[in-house]
Amino acid sequence: MNEKLKVAIVGGGGVMGSGIGFLTVLNGLPTTLIDRTKDDAEVGIRRIEEYIEMSKGIQKLWLKMKKRSLMKLLRTSDDISIVNNSDVVIEAIPEKKELKKEVLRNISEYLPKDAILATNTSSIMVKTLSEGLRNPENFLGIHFFNPPVLMKLVEIIKTEDTSDHAIELARKFCKMLDRKIIEPKDTPGFVANRLFAALFKEAFNLYESGIATPKDIDTAAKFGLGHRLGPFKTMDLIGIDTGKDVIDSINEQSGEKMFEVPEVLKAMIRNGTLGMKTGKGFFDYKKQK
Ligand code: NAD
Repeated sequence: MNEKLKVAIVGGGGVMGSGIGFLTVLNGLPTTLIDRTKDDAEVGIRRIEEYIEMSKGIQKLWLKMKKRSLMKLLRTSDDISIVNNSDVVIEAIPEKKELKKEVLRNISEYLPKDAILATNTSSIMVKTLSEGLRNPENFLGIHFFNPPVLMKLVEIIKTEDTSDHAIELARKFCKMLDRKIIEPKDTPGFVANRLFAALFKEAFNLYESGIATPKDIDTAAKFGLGHRLGPFKTMDLIGIDTGKDVIDSINEQSGEKMFEVPEVLKAMIRNGTLGMKTGKGFFDYKKQK
């Protein structure tokens, strides 16, 4: 197997697709961002350019490679069939089960025999997504966190069909990216997002009952619990729409309402106030630009 694993990211124009793409090119891996249209995929390139600009201050990352050599590793496409030239294919499209199943089935038709197909789902049981795949032995979950270049955790999740070769290749890929790996059992939300859902639930209770503002609750989490961001800023970073999809998905699969999606989140989605990606969520990001 070629040491320079070739990566394809389906949903490469999105928040996570572009974030994972930034991480893979930083580590020297040729990466193709595939999306519904060429324009959608190009959004990923622009996002990565922004990340590079932001990282200039972070010496270690910036010294690793210059912008031009990073950009040379990137391609975009709207053609799923080009995954046939990849070693690692990551699916990072929206957290909608039926959509993911359809796109994964389509990808699996073109997947090379020795390549892996990994879903970046935050919450959907990996086994559910493997139904109907041509090659379920090549399929598993590799769950990155946002922003991937800063959040070192990955959750690798196998199903009973996943081959040893696929798991080994997933571990090797994640080690190449200098990730901290955990390998929990296949369960709705896995580990880190269940922890976050529990924290956000209580944060929201405190906010709704008027005990503290989102800013103060985030300050408590940062300076009292040592978190990098507080729960409200994390939700803005995840994206309110994606956050709601994740809560809905955990509830639906576990058969119990671990956490009712608050009306406020639904209203934010109706208003297009989706967090950092739209410039406003619980906090305003436009004025910081
Ligand atoms: P996003 O909405 O920012 O990006 C989704 C991308 O998928 C978009 O570019 C969209 O054009 C593309 N897409 C939609 N349908 C497609 C199709 N049929 N073919 C190809 N591309 C298609 O979403 P996101 O926040 O990046 O989330 C993507 C996945 O990553 C979800 O499963 C989510 O749960 C997971 N995830 C998100 C975060 C986060 O913080 N946002 C963190 C970890 C994991």
